Amino acid sequence: MVSFAFTEEQREFQQTLQDFSRKRLLPGYRDRAASAEFPFDVLRQLGELGVLGIGLPEEYGGTGAEDPITLGLATETLAYGDVNLASAPIQIGLIGSQLVHATEEIRQNYLPAMIEGRKTVAIALTEPGSGSDAAAMTAVARPVDGGWQLTGEKTAISWACNASAALIYARDPGSTRAAGVSCYLVPLDAERVKVHHMPGMGCLPLGWGSIHLDDVFVPESHLVGEQGKGFQAVMSHFDFSRAAIGLMCLGAAQASMDEAIGYATDRHAFGKPIADYQGVSFQLAEHATYLEAARWMCYRALWLREENEPHTALASMSKWWPPVVAKNAIESAMRIHGNLGYSTEFPLQQRYRDVMAYLVADGTAEIQKKIIAKDVFERRGIVS
Ligand SMILES: Cc1cc2nc3c(=O)[nH]c(=O)nc-3n(C[C@H](O)[C@H](O)[C@H](O)COP(=O)(O)OP(=O)(O)OC[C@H]3O[C@@H](n4cnc5c(N)ncnc54)[C@H](O)[C@@H]3O)c2cc1C
Repeated sequence: MVSFAFTEEQREFQQTLQDFSRKRLLPGYRDRAASAEFPFDVLRQLGELGVLGIGLPEEYGGTGAEDPITLGLATETLAYGDVNLASAPIQIGLIGSQLVHATEEIRQNYLPAMIEGRKTVAIALTEPGSGSDAAAMTAVARPVDGGWQLTGEKTAISWACNASAALIYARDPGSTRAAGVSCYLVPLDAERVKVHHMPGMGCLPLGWGSIHLDDVFVPESHLVGEQGKGFQAVMSHFDFSRAAIGLMCLGAAQASMDEAIGYATDRHAFGKPIADYQGVSFQLAEHATYLEAARWMCYRALWLREENEPHTALASMSKWWPPVVAKNAIESAMRIHGNLGYSTEFPLQQRYRDVMAYLVADGTAEIQKKIIAKDVFERRGIVS
């Protein structure tokens, strides 16, 4: 028998987050989104709600075992009010899951502070010369007495401008592709590290930027996970974060749809509410259908993760399609609002710009389709 029900505990958590999202996040979303200042005050509130430690060890303030569905539920619900802040549980989950493999000193230094919303840490894989092909990175970690010296440039990094530290992926000299890539925790105020803000069309508060490392000394104690295995470690977690990103985009789209439904009911044209015209109501009906389908696809990916079943292809489907579904729904909501949809006094255009980020961030649609195609052929016994 198939069940699509959340547990009682998940429903209660969802209710608490829904109240917070609609009453506390939504009213300030546009103002926060217009500023490059990271809203640590709100992040701390998310920490108090227990949102930032989902799936991270209890001893550092987290909820314990990996809990993909609750993470998805949290980010989807928060994105209704603020899609930028809703990325925090995903980002902290992704980074925290790497940091649990660091030394106890680093874990103590960062995990409780991240889970409480006092500190952020960035994750830096992308370089000017390698994004989709992340294994082509050239940042290098040269062994020296007591540690390594890191040189390279990371670009398009979320949280670069507000983070205390970054997980920097760099390779052993002479190594190629994924082999020989390790993960290092680098405090961003360390000597010879420079951070530059990068202007984006949305996601401003996320502090998008580049990180330059010019022979930066990193002590042995700052290696995160096994040396040479950093690439595989982070990739396995992307299977989890990708489906959550899909849900986050859908949460933002649902808010836009609800606004469009309200507006279509109130706004009159040619003597009746515009909702009475099928040109309007069918748009809403179509997007409601896509949102529903995309939503359950994401939850199924997270459920497979929870069940320890293969889910890489479904996670990739959840990363490329739901952001497109969300973007299209938001665009339709904007059009239903007529000129007001174009106005910066309404949140629709802001959501559109913020959600657009996820058509690229965490892997483009083409890269997700490459992963899905590999799975499609492998299932037929054809290895591409
Ligand atoms: C808002 C935002 C936040 C981000 N945050 C982070 C972060 O925190 N940390 C981090 O490390 N990175 C981050 N990124 C970077 C992101 O992961 C990369 O931008 C992304 O992986 C694509 O890499 P690229 O920009 O170098 O594009 P490229 O890899 O140069 O791709 C350019 C185009 O070519 C296509 N393409 C490339 N290869 C293929 C192929 N084999 N088949 C078909 N098409 C292909 C791509 O799909 C794309 O359309 C962020 C990006 C954005 C926009």
